[in-house]
Amino acid sequence: MKNRLVEYARLQWIEGEDDANGAVPRSDKFDDIYYAGDGREETAHVFLSGNNLAQQFTTHSRFAIGETGFGTGLNILSAWDLWRETKKPIDASLHFLSFEKYPLCKDDLERAHKNWPEFSHLSDIILQQWPANIAGFHRLNLEDNVSLTLFFGDILDGLSQHPNHPAPINAWFLDGFAPSKNPDIWSESVFEGMARLSREGTSLATFTVAGHVRRRLTAAGFAVEKTQGFGRKREMLRGTFQSTLTPSDQPLMANDKPWFSPQNLTTLLAGQKVAIIGGGIAGASLAYNLNKTGLKPTIFEQDKLASGASGNRAGLIMPRLDRDDNAPARFSLHAWLYTLRLLTILQDQNPDISLFTQCGAAKFGRTDRDREILSALIEEDYLPKGWIEKHKDGIFFPHGGVISPPDFVRLLIGDTPVLREKIKSIENTATSIGVTSDIDTHQFDAVIYANSFEARKFQAVGTLPISGAAGQIDVYEMAPAPAHAQVFGPYLAPLPGNQKIGQIIGATYRPLEETKECLEPSPEAADENLESLRPFTDLKGIKLHDAISRVSVRCVTPDQIPIAGPLPDWAFYTKNYDGLRDGRIGPYSAARYQRGHYALIGLGSRGLVTAPLAAAMIVSQMTGTPAPVPRDLFETLHPARFFIRSVKRPKPRHQKKQKS
Ligand code: SAM
Repeated sequence: MKNRLVEYARLQWIEGEDDANGAVPRSDKFDDIYYAGDGREETAHVFLSGNNLAQQFTTHSRFAIGETGFGTGLNILSAWDLWRETKKPIDASLHFLSFEKYPLCKDDLERAHKNWPEFSHLSDIILQQWPANIAGFHRLNLEDNVSLTLFFGDILDGLSQHPNHPAPINAWFLDGFAPSKNPDIWSESVFEGMARLSREGTSLATFTVAGHVRRRLTAAGFAVEKTQGFGRKREMLRGTFQSTLTPSDQPLMANDKPWFSPQNLTTLLAGQKVAIIGGGIAGASLAYNLNKTGLKPTIFEQDKLASGASGNRAGLIMPRLDRDDNAPARFSLHAWLYTLRLLTILQDQNPDISLFTQCGAAKFGRTDRDREILSALIEEDYLPKGWIEKHKDGIFFPHGGVISPPDFVRLLIGDTPVLREKIKSIENTATSIGVTSDIDTHQFDAVIYANSFEARKFQAVGTLPISGAAGQIDVYEMAPAPAHAQVFGPYLAPLPGNQKIGQIIGATYRPLEETKECLEPSPEAADENLESLRPFTDLKGIKLHDAISRVSVRCVTPDQIPIAGPLPDWAFYTKNYDGLRDGRIGPYSAARYQRGHYALIGLGSRGLVTAPLAAAMIVSQMTGTPAPVPRDLFETLHPARFFIRSVKRPKPRHQKKQKS
């Protein structure tokens, strides 16, 4: 396990005259101040005017700002405020991608923000979602159409882990302390990383005109010029990116994993229409994220909304962690953190609904090995203090809890149009995608399959190895509510809403091939749920005949990781990647996809935790906006991974012999 947590900034507050708080933050580590005076005017001059943002905002329907050093967030508050005040194109959206090695702790951030009362309505939104000091990408949904992706860690890691196609950034703020105090953030490698995320015309601005900064920026492809500085500083720098190489000029070798390359994806423009097939947690999460980037989703649902696994009375919100720093565990952790942030916002906006009861969730080991892993998670500080605690022979997540899945689905969908139609076929035409139901044919620019196990009926998805597993959960309305969720494998939890009574127990697991009978709720399955819990807990107050049972089908994948991403052009894959069978190292062509077809399926029993982040990943690919996760997680969830594994898998000897 390596560096999962980042160090917080250590600040000194220097007494000043012109700020409301009477103090300016200074970094102990870098021996430099975050801003002078109250900072706003300098930010407006150097970063906002330096990038000509007031004008750029009027012409871009999607705009992304990259920043080297989030610090107190003053630059971002200022740019966000300006964007809100600007008359923009219809469906405009704004995205920030900011890198921070030593984040301020929430108290310090709050203290700094007190200096700018005119931004307090914006600052409150950031403070409410401010992530704990966990390394990696954190996506914050600031308001309708404004997102902030924060990378906690060294900027070099962040830049190299961010996917670089399509390049998302329209303007850069270079603000990593003075070059003399912090040379690392002004290095060639950082500028090359910025160039990878820049497109023709991307602007930049910074307060320094140091010769080596200018030379390195120029070498990385930015044309720079000096211009008038702020206050006593005579000069500052601004620049524009002039791309020379497009990614398609480069040959792709096996270790570039061309089969996962997003290079040939077409970016959707603001206002374009997206069909979502399925109105469960996957479809709802997609609608939420698409609406935020100015796209126009429509959900097709043959049944009621949340009629499948998302229709249960309660669902658990806890992560599935692993000691190792593997990609699935990182995805699970960050998906959980993202969902917690979303739930906080939605619950806050809808205080009358019992959406999320943050009662905490305990996880117990069933075997000695399980218990060993759990105690290692605590000993090795897997999560920051207050996020994970020892609990009997298990661990406790105080931030975990239970939610009402149907309410979650409904709130995420908001006022997205929902058509109650059964989709029969989906076909590309020359310019659009025809989505045909039993009633009508509708034209869209893209389609996302979010209909769980049913997705296999569509040709575009057909070959993906998804299967169905039925699960029964049982509600005991009159049983005493446990104080928090308890997971042993099987689980018991209170119903959402902080009531004293009401308990949910789950869940059975029956692969659909075994029997069709498992699709109906049964007392036998309720008894099985109780029996599987009996070794761990006394089940006080629970009577089998009180069970109110519900069965739903979960869509599962062989590796138990969701499928999220663009759907491959299967014929292209078969033809172009056959060399992998013999270990050929390349060059290979970059992957091709079925134009406009994406999938979010295979969520298993953890869709409430994983769907929101997986949906944000897909939408970032469709729109070319900053990614909410590092590149390797796109590969981990990529729909082509099973195909690639199957061609790479060593063939048993006897098969080879038979061939010859
Ligand atoms: N833009 C900020 C604002 O609006 O308040 C001020 C940024 S402050 C001057 C510089 C920031 O860069 C600090 O928060 C520091 O921790 C961060 N930083 C320094 N070196 C870094 C690195 N190698 N990677 C990421 N962040 C770094």
